[in-house]
Amino acid sequence: MSNPLPLQAMLNARGASLDIASVAGRRGCPLSDLRDRLRRSGLRPTRQRLSLGWLLFGRGDRHLTAEMLYDEAMRAKVPVSLATVYNTLHQFTEAGLLRQLALDGSKAYFDTNPSEHHHFFLEDEGQVLDMPDCGITVDSLPDAPEGMEIAGVEVIVRLRRRHGARQS
Ligand SMILES: [Zn+2]
Repeated sequence: MSNPLPLQAMLNARGASLDIASVAGRRGCPLSDLRDRLRRSGLRPTRQRLSLGWLLFGRGDRHLTAEMLYDEAMRAKVPVSLATVYNTLHQFTEAGLLRQLALDGSKAYFDTNPSEHHHFFLEDEGQVLDMPDCGITVDSLPDAPEGMEIAGVEVIVRLRRRHGARQS
């Protein structure tokens, strides 16, 4: 688990005129990897993108809403607005770094693993879990409408806690 604070410490230590490339320039540095990843995706590695990307991608695969990332940014003392968090998440999604999940009409979840996979969604708690690889087989799909082909299949299995579950 990566701690996001060192990035901010580095940024703060160099002051406002920081050249982020000089901090991130060393090979094998996670920050350097992140900068390269943004560049390869066609995004300029601005300080805000690096800071939010550091928070997003530094902890393995996970699923976040803009509000969750904003809370993490506030705790890590990253100076961003909620609007910037929204914009950055959508830019990352368009660049293929994130995948937006259609789980809940009221808020968007973003997955740091953009490859196709299936999810459990614990509706009452808004919690998203990756399904194990062997979790589901979809082998009987209808034909796509004329002139179309199936681009992907994502299954969401909605869960709720059992109320009054008996213990035997
Ligand atoms: Zn996922």
